[in-house]
Amino acid sequence: MANDTIFGRMLRGEIPCDEVYSDQHCLAFRDIQPQAPVHVLVIPRKPLESLRSAEEENAELLGHLLLVAARVAKQEGLDDFRTVINTGAEAGQTVFHLHVHLIGGRPQAWPPG
Ligand code: AMP
Repeated sequence: MANDTIFGRMLRGEIPCDEVYSDQHCLAFRDIQPQAPVHVLVIPRKPLESLRSAEEENAELLGHLLLVAARVAKQEGLDDFRTVINTGAEAGQTVFHLHVHLIGGRPQAWPPG
């Protein structure tokens, strides 16, 4: 269950995180293994496992996560940045609590690996 992931433990304050933004719907913190000068994860407080498990009722929340990512990008001084949501193990998801990666501060290649 998404509640029992490491991100669930952060939301419950059981383990620390390097927080950059927080509100009633989400938390944003620096990735512990940054892939760029700025690498922040934005997670919903609601324990959704992945984008696959999101429903219509989560539409506003999903939009909010993207707006927060853009807000944090601005806060971090980024004009250009990438947002990524990995869904499922084959796509690179390792923590099964939905999260938006905000990556920036260096040129990024496309397509991703
Ligand atoms: P994903 O592979 O898309 O599921 O992304 C999970 C991300 O969580 C990876 O980039 C990890 O480096 C990051 N991560 C795992 N544990 C922690 C932690 N304790 N604090 C911050 N980021 C973490």
